[in-house]
Amino acid sequence: MCGIIAIAAKNDCINDIISGLYSLEYRGYDSSGLATIKNNHFEYNKNVGKIFNLEKSVKKNKLTGNVAIAHTRWATHGKPSIKNCHPFIKDNCVLVHNGIIENYTDLLSQYSINKKNIKSDTDSEIIAEIYNKLLNKFNNPVEAIKNLNKKIIGSFSFAFLVHGSNSIFVTKRGSPLVLGIGKHFNAVSSDVLGLPDSTREIIFLEENDIAELNESSISIFDKNTRKIKREKHKFVQKQDFKIKGNYKHFMEKEIFHQPISIEDTILNFADKKRKIVYLPKSNIKFNKFSNIILVACGTAYHSCMVAKYWLEAMTNINVSIDIASEFRYRKNKFSLNSVGIVVSQSGETMDTLKCLDKFKKNNIPTVSIVNVLNSSIARLSDFILPTLAGSEIGVASTKAFTSQLSVLALFALHIQQQEKSINKLYFNSIFEIHKSVNEILNKENEFKKIAQTLVDTKSIFYIGRGVMYPMALEGALKLKEITYKHCEGFAAGELKHGPLALIEKNIPVIVLAPYDENYFKLISNIQEVKARGGRIIMITDKMGAKIAKKYSDKLIIVPKTNFLTSPIIYSLPIQLIAYYLAVFLGTDVDQPRNLAKSVTVE
Ligand code: GLU
Repeated sequence: MCGIIAIAAKNDCINDIISGLYSLEYRGYDSSGLATIKNNHFEYNKNVGKIFNLEKSVKKNKLTGNVAIAHTRWATHGKPSIKNCHPFIKDNCVLVHNGIIENYTDLLSQYSINKKNIKSDTDSEIIAEIYNKLLNKFNNPVEAIKNLNKKIIGSFSFAFLVHGSNSIFVTKRGSPLVLGIGKHFNAVSSDVLGLPDSTREIIFLEENDIAELNESSISIFDKNTRKIKREKHKFVQKQDFKIKGNYKHFMEKEIFHQPISIEDTILNFADKKRKIVYLPKSNIKFNKFSNIILVACGTAYHSCMVAKYWLEAMTNINVSIDIASEFRYRKNKFSLNSVGIVVSQSGETMDTLKCLDKFKKNNIPTVSIVNVLNSSIARLSDFILPTLAGSEIGVASTKAFTSQLSVLALFALHIQQQEKSINKLYFNSIFEIHKSVNEILNKENEFKKIAQTLVDTKSIFYIGRGVMYPMALEGALKLKEITYKHCEGFAAGELKHGPLALIEKNIPVIVLAPYDENYFKLISNIQEVKARGGRIIMITDKMGAKIAKKYSDKLIIVPKTNFLTSPIIYSLPIQLIAYYLAVFLGTDVDQPRNLAKSVTVE
């Protein structure tokens, strides 16, 4: 179940269509095709295999057009072949479809479709045939879609071209679609990655929405064809990631980009109203695996550590985790029915890539979570979950990390959904994360003040419990990377097993303390530190602050969180403290000494 891209533009849009198809490649595909309408005449090209084959034939046939719909197919009904390739052309319309029509055989008889008109083995062509009939009946493309949708059981996103119109008509249920608005075009795609880079604003369609788009306008209708408005979001273009703008460092810019990058990642894969998580190739039954093995390096490893807590608590699957440079050489045995998940910002991390090889050699299916889609890891894995953070330039990962966490949180919810036991509280809360992130960013001065107090420290400790333990490790790593200070992260309960010996006034302890089930245990650990003359900087929420006030030397209040949202939201204080301290210390924030963005060596 792969990708749709469609564009209505003032000028020829075929190049944008092809590059949109390339960007959707990661969703998996076996064939592709596109169609245009010109002077009321449909033209099309289809091809089996690589998008490159389609691009070649489009160029050879000199196919041009201002209005086009295109498709990457991942066959569910009928093998990959030209006959089964989308788009499907009928007298009055052309269709591309993503998803599965469960009742397609019933629909054949309900609409008295002549079987001779169906040339393919797909569930999709029947829809084109029915829509063709409905267009004759209603003479109104939007009304025809409304009637069509009423009868369908299954999941779909459809894009239609209609005879006599220069518009593209789309609708969706259980399969994502996002509209892209540009200066001289409007577009629609299965995800934001497929949209042209000059897109300025985006709108996520909701379930059963119908939209009509032409080069200059977009109209959206609800399932009863009443005109509606949907919220517009800013689209950050690729080139915008490459300039600092008003920021002093890329890292600062990337930290402040997170309300957008997190929200984009979440809205791209989940529909709040319908409470659905849609991951590409959602037909893979992740809930049927017995073991998940998570492997990564550095910051990405910390995102995996968080995910272990989430997946263990939220699913019935065993979860193990390892550092890529260790896992690749371990003589471990693989249990049957395991899936390997590798996480890497660049998608080129050598150790992680080697782990992917190891999984493959052992016939373990693989999922990669990457920020760069055409990377080696993305290309080699069986299934890709992209983090939609946009290019990250600062060596110390910030927005890529919170997007990795967002994708992993969605992955855990997705498994719950497959088990029909989605946690509604967690699900609803992920749509609010960007607001809390914004709130924290508005308190930047408080973090500056904290950072100022850390300038002359000998060392800095982070502590936390539960999901805040990996975050304590990440907090310390962020500080090490860009401030060159000695820092350590500890599971708070481990202090008394050694690190407590190090406590002294000049080694402040930053405590990550959401008011959760671990809170009171953490308070005991804080008291152990205080009793030995330690200095406590507490990051907590309002509830936590009430109790912690008397134990803390400094306290910062952040919004209330839950088990799923805490790690994402507490990433912000960690990043801001590291960033401002590095600025005070005058280090090279974006390119810290001895480090590289993409670690392609052992
Ligand atoms: N069910 C349709 C087919 O097999 C669409 C598959 C897809 O989403 O790519 O052609």
